[in-house]
Amino acid sequence: MRIDILTLFPEMCNTVMSESIIGRARQAGKVEINCIDIRDYTLDKHRRVDDKPYGGGMGMIMAPQPIYDCFSALCDEIGTKPHLIYLTPQGKTLTQERVKELAQLDNIALLCGHYEGIDERVIEALEPEEISVGDYVLTGGELPALIVADAVSRMLPGVLSGDECFEEESHFSSLLEYPQYTHPAQWQGREVPEILLSGHHANVDKWRREQSLKRTFERRPDMLEKAELSKDDKEFLSNLKRD
Ligand code: SAM
Repeated sequence: MRIDILTLFPEMCNTVMSESIIGRARQAGKVEINCIDIRDYTLDKHRRVDDKPYGGGMGMIMAPQPIYDCFSALCDEIGTKPHLIYLTPQGKTLTQERVKELAQLDNIALLCGHYEGIDERVIEALEPEEISVGDYVLTGGELPALIVADAVSRMLPGVLSGDECFEEESHFSSLLEYPQYTHPAQWQGREVPEILLSGHHANVDKWRREQSLKRTFERRPDMLEKAELSKDDKEFLSNLKRD
C-alpha cells in the first residue's frame, strides 16, 4: 500500500513515520509512506499558502490552489486517483472498522489542514472522505493523519509479526482486550494471575476471553451490541449482569 500525506509540515510527519514498527515496515517495503509539502505547489511568488478569511474573523485559511495542484500532481505521478481523506473535526469519527476497510486499498492520500482550516471550495472540488479523530480540536491535521497512517499500516501483511497481534486487540472484534502481564511474576506485592503461569493453553484462552468480555461489559457496554458472541459468552455475560 502507498500512503501520501499532504501537509505543510512534512518533516514532522516523516520523523514520526520513521520510528519503531512503522519505520521498520517502511524500510522493509511493507508500506510506502510519502510526506508531500503542499507549499511546493503554491503559485504565490512569496510561497504563501494561506490568507485571511473572507467576512473577517480570526486566523488564516489555507488557500485552494496549492492543495488542488498538490493532489493533481500526486494523481499524475501515481497514474490513478488515490482515495483522498481530509482530516477534520467535522468528519466521521475514525473506527477500527473503517481502518480495516482502508487497509484494503492500494493508495490513500491524507490531507492535513492547519491554522483555521482550508478553503471550502477545494473540499467541494476534491470531495474527500472526511475523518475526525475525536470530538476535540487540534492545531493541525498532521497528528490525525499520523494516527490514520499508523492504524492502517499496522494492519498490512508483514508489518506486525502475525495477524493474531491485532486480532485479539481492543476494538478488532468489538471487544476490549484482556489484561496483559510480563515478568516478574511478583511486583510490589502484586501477583500475575495464577492461570497465566499454568501453561494450560485452553484455560488461559478461556480466562482471557472472559476477562475481555468483563472489561467490555464494565467499560464499553455499547460495544457488545456489535460483538460476535458464542453461547458461552452470552451465558458468562448474563451471569455478570446478575451479580
Ligand atoms: N476551524 C475548524 C473547525 O472549527 O472545524 C478547525 C480547524 S483546526 C484548528 C485546523 C486543522 O486541524 C483542521 O483543518 C484539521 O485538518 C485538523 N484537525 C483539528 N482537529 C481535528 C480532529 N479532531 N480530527 C481531525 N482533524 C483535526
